[in-house]
Amino acid sequence: MKKIIVTIDGWSSCGKSTIAKQLAKSLGYVYIDSGAMYRAITLYFLRNHIDWTDPAAVEEALHHINLHFVYNTKSMNSEMYLNEENVEYMIRDMVVAEKVSEVATIAMVRTFAVAQQQKMGAEKGIVMDGRDIGTTVFPDAALKIFMTADIMTRVERRFKEMYEKNPNITLDEVKSNLEMRDYIDSNREVSPLRMAEDAILLDNTKLTMEEQLDIALKLVAKKL
Ligand code: C5P
Repeated sequence: MKKIIVTIDGWSSCGKSTIAKQLAKSLGYVYIDSGAMYRAITLYFLRNHIDWTDPAAVEEALHHINLHFVYNTKSMNSEMYLNEENVEYMIRDMVVAEKVSEVATIAMVRTFAVAQQQKMGAEKGIVMDGRDIGTTVFPDAALKIFMTADIMTRVERRFKEMYEKNPNITLDEVKSNLEMRDYIDSNREVSPLRMAEDAILLDNTKLTMEEQLDIALKLVAKKL
């Protein structure tokens, strides 16, 4: 059976990972959350007080970072490991969310992450979500989806997720974090967030999970 690469890019918190996971599961493909890699690098920088405005410090730090995903059969989720430590929970924290987009502007950091992402896709049969997957990581991917949803829908979805961990969080905090990340992600010099010319726009503001999965599966079927 022919296997393809599916890329899912888009704005922060518009449900990219939900649809990417479901799609990978339905197709028997590997799912890769590229944002988790930028988050894990950020966590390493924060913990080790790396001055990421200093290129020499970034270069040195990257030598000490090993990233890989391990599939957890209980949670049925691929989890992010940073140097043999499961950091899946910690990388979702607001402390990381506040700095990740700044770290993701650094060319050396992107080169480091993109090289690993491209290796993961060498065998195809992969669904990867992020910001630059259809434009930079896999420009030849067979199917590129670009997701969007209206801002308050995105804020409410992310707020629900974060509230479970931190009941002190406010809607305003979540909204300003999403807006800040979207701004930095779409205005950075290296691989800014853009819809690839050959991507298909999917607005899921009014779609249920089943409806959006159905649309994505039909798009895949056309490519096979
Ligand atoms: O997808 P997620 O929201 O977890 O990504 C966290 C951050 O990582 C994004 O806001 C963006 O700054 C960065 N990112 C990126 N390129 C990707 C994936 C994520 O720059 N392919």
